[in-house]
Amino acid sequence: MKHYSIAIDGPSGAGKSTLARAVAEKFGFLYVDTGAIYRTVGLSALRAGVDPKDAPAVSALLPSTRVELVHAPDGLQHMYLNGEDVTEQIRTPEVSMAASAVAAHAQVRAFLLDTQRDLAKTHNVIMDGRDIGTVVLPDADVKIFLTASTQERAWRRTLELSERGAPKPYEEVLAELEARDRDDQTRAEAPLRQAEDAVRLDNSQLTFQETVDALSEIVQERIAL
Ligand code: C5P
Repeated sequence: MKHYSIAIDGPSGAGKSTLARAVAEKFGFLYVDTGAIYRTVGLSALRAGVDPKDAPAVSALLPSTRVELVHAPDGLQHMYLNGEDVTEQIRTPEVSMAASAVAAHAQVRAFLLDTQRDLAKTHNVIMDGRDIGTVVLPDADVKIFLTASTQERAWRRTLELSERGAPKPYEEVLAELEARDRDDQTRAEAPLRQAEDAVRLDNSQLTFQETVDALSEIVQERIAL
């Protein structure tokens, strides 16, 4: 049976996760948040007292690191690290930076590749990340590059952190976002870039619903659902 796949890539804070989840629900697809997988490896390094930038040390941890992704009946993706549910713990700014650092290592990316591809083989998926359209699912039926201005993304992230009860000043959020963008775009392994056959959508000036509508239109033009 043919399974459809939708790849959504783009920089941090463009709203990929929330938007992809809404679109997944609309079309009955499985939503896969690949950033959460890198976050789980980042958390694993921090907990082990390993510098996430230290490629050999992080690689040495991998054989004893069990990363599992489980979808709850409501479609919510839970992440497990060595059997422990770390879905909440991976959402701190510290883990964001660690995720970006471990994601630069070739061994880490190779370690996580099959987990991502296997899901697309067995389900209709909408997968978000940085290299889904370029590396993980180069034959995806739909590829979208979702972006927004740096200021807008930093503002949204600032609001999100404050809603979660962990407020941070805008300037700090902006600086971290710029650092993460730079790391993600300039790394040698699977850098963040728009796939040649991806549709670019800048949602700086769009509301959430307008973005969902624009994404749905792009999907419906390419997949007969
Ligand atoms: O999307 P999210 O912010 O949760 O991702 C955390 C980090 O994981 C990103 O900054 C990026 O470095 C890395 N990542 C990646 N490839 C993906 C998804 C995330 O390198 N497909």
